[in-house]
Amino acid sequence: MRAAAASGRRIRAVGAGHSWSAIAAPEDIALTLDRMSGIVARGPGWVRVKAGTRLRQLNRALGAVGEALPVVASIAQQSVAGAVGTGTHGSSLSHGNLSSLVCGARLVAGDGSVLEIGEDDERLDGIRVHLGALGPVTELTLRTTARFNLSETIEPVPVEQVASRAEELGRSAEYVKVWWMPQTANVLVFRYERTDESMTRLPSPETQRLLENWLPRAILPALYAWQQNHSSGVPRFNEVATRWLTKKRRVGPSTLLLTTPEPIRHYETEAAVALAAGGEAFDRTVRLFDRDDLHANFILELRYSKADTGWMSTAYGGDVVHLGACTAIRGLKRPYFDGFWGALRPLGARPHWAKETVHESPDVLSLYPMADRFLDLRNQIDPQRMFANGFLDRMLGP
Ligand SMILES: Cc1cc2nc3c(=O)[nH]c(=O)nc-3n(C[C@H](O)[C@H](O)[C@H](O)COP(=O)(O)OP(=O)(O)OC[C@H]3O[C@@H](n4cnc5c(N)ncnc54)[C@H](O)[C@@H]3O)c2cc1C
Repeated sequence: MRAAAASGRRIRAVGAGHSWSAIAAPEDIALTLDRMSGIVARGPGWVRVKAGTRLRQLNRALGAVGEALPVVASIAQQSVAGAVGTGTHGSSLSHGNLSSLVCGARLVAGDGSVLEIGEDDERLDGIRVHLGALGPVTELTLRTTARFNLSETIEPVPVEQVASRAEELGRSAEYVKVWWMPQTANVLVFRYERTDESMTRLPSPETQRLLENWLPRAILPALYAWQQNHSSGVPRFNEVATRWLTKKRRVGPSTLLLTTPEPIRHYETEAAVALAAGGEAFDRTVRLFDRDDLHANFILELRYSKADTGWMSTAYGGDVVHLGACTAIRGLKRPYFDGFWGALRPLGARPHWAKETVHESPDVLSLYPMADRFLDLRNQIDPQRMFANGFLDRMLGP
């Protein structure tokens, strides 16, 4: 890094490459911390982990010693530093996003010096959602909890009720998410509560292989490719998919139930709005489908996060609803996502840093009251902009 700094080169740390936005795109040197992986130390309620560790690996290691992260994202293929640094979240009004679990960090500044940031350091809130803009993170300390099991129930609720019930639904269990397959009559409300009941039978290895390999990598892509040119069949397909998704009640470890098998390749954008505006945001998005005659073949998802203190976190300052819009039809991406942001920008929606975005600075920064503090911290750590890329130049300014 010192050599790169001396010759004016740029370095971008990359994690597992799971961001839709160009936030991780290296334009000169790419630095991967894949081999800096594993647990460094552990104590009651905390774990110190190397930054390149995959969440899946961390979940497994914690589970083996009776611990767990209190919140997980919908997949666990990401690196710890990459997930934390973009404000990756699960869905719960009782818990914040993954960055809210951080209580210590080590990173390497532009001059090659090592910064150790502890719990009492006021910069901690700045480095939570670091955006890869503050230099390579090499270690993170995260809060953990005792391992726990959850019961999952799925309730169909008429789509027109969500606008008035978004907050109530979010508070109806410790973890709640809402899925709507566009142009169907009901949303599916997934609720997860802690339980001591014995686990339901897990899928057989054959079913698991089908779910993780054949379905997302062969069967669904073929179906979705067909839909590129036959979009009028999408509402019917969505009805069938909704019925298939309405499974029986399950009981299992939190890390299994709160994550999904790898989905097929798709496009995704996501907006965070204040909890009180969640219903309105959902309603505005649903209305787009008729207005713009959209046939999206993937879920519109509503998830929740508790307020946190991360300066660049989408949940900074108040509880939020995250509205995630997805499609696997390439031609639909622009009209759908442009319409989506046209409808949600007036609600002060903050874009997920790692998903498709239509934003340019300085409008994004105005959504974050602590943006100036973050930019000051960036100036201290990286005055030469050694860790910048085109995405950060656009979003944060040069
Ligand atoms: C299928 C799928 C499901 C997803 N589900 C969710 C979800 O449930 N909730 C949610 O909020 N998001 C979700 N995401 C988004 C995902 O969590 C983020 O894109 C996350 O940042 C990916 O982590 P990564 O390790 O792949 O990081 P990358 O995409 O490689 O990098 C992300 C950022 O982190 C920086 N970075 C990575 N490693 C380091 C390091 N060691 N030091 C400094 N900076 C670093 C990069 O420079 C970049 O800025 C999902 C993405 C996919 C593809």
